Amino acid sequence: MEARSIAIDGPSGAGKSTLARLAAKKLGMIYADTGALYRAVGLCALRRGVSSKDARSVSALLPEIELEMIYDGAGAQRMLLCGEDVTDEIRAPEASIYASDVSAFPEVRAFLLQTQRDMAARRDVIMDGRDIGTVVLPNAGVKIFLTAQPEIRARRRYDELVASGRDVTYADVLRDINYRDANDSSRASAPLRAAPDSIVFDTSAIGLEESFFRLLEIISERLCVKNDAAV
Ligand code: C5P
Repeated sequence: MEARSIAIDGPSGAGKSTLARLAAKKLGMIYADTGALYRAVGLCALRRGVSSKDARSVSALLPEIELEMIYDGAGAQRMLLCGEDVTDEIRAPEASIYASDVSAFPEVRAFLLQTQRDMAARRDVIMDGRDIGTVVLPNAGVKIFLTAQPEIRARRRYDELVASGRDVTYADVLRDINYRDANDSSRASAPLRAAPDSIVFDTSAIGLEESFFRLLEIISERLCVKNDAAV
């Protein structure tokens, strides 16, 4: 049987990873966070002292970059960069900016495209990113464009970062969100946008539990799976 795939796209901080992870667990699918791939490429450039705006130098690094997504015993995704576990390091604010910058280069997007498609070909997957429904998996069984107002996304991301012990301010997080929104939406190569056949789902006014319930409803309507949500 062909593997099933669900594409969840949307801007930074819309709750894609939290909701996709919960839904994947509920539906017995794997969760693939494609942002981690772009972050790992960005981190590599950062570590090598290469400017994230220098397309030629970033592209020159690609042949040396080996990426692997693995899943630990609890089903959590770990990102390996040339065999090193960089799962935590790629979450640093600087790595976010680098990821957003390098993701604009067509060479980087082409480099990561097959990796993402291979993951979806092997197993049932819920994949989140910016261009999953438009470019990576145009035939996904369900396409969702998850969004929320920038200030609300920044507040959620800020709370998450503080809870994980990072020293950040709300103003910095909002600036980062606005920077990445502008970058991701305006680039020429696979810009952030809702696929015409996606369902746009705005979570600005609702919390996690209701968002999860509604997400499962959308998925079950499209994939005909049983829906009995409990976060
Ligand atoms: O999803 P996350 O915020 O971790 O992604 C980091 C950056 O990687 C985004 O700001 C975006 O520029 C880029 N990205 C992308 N396409 C994807 C996933 C992420 O361009 N499919």
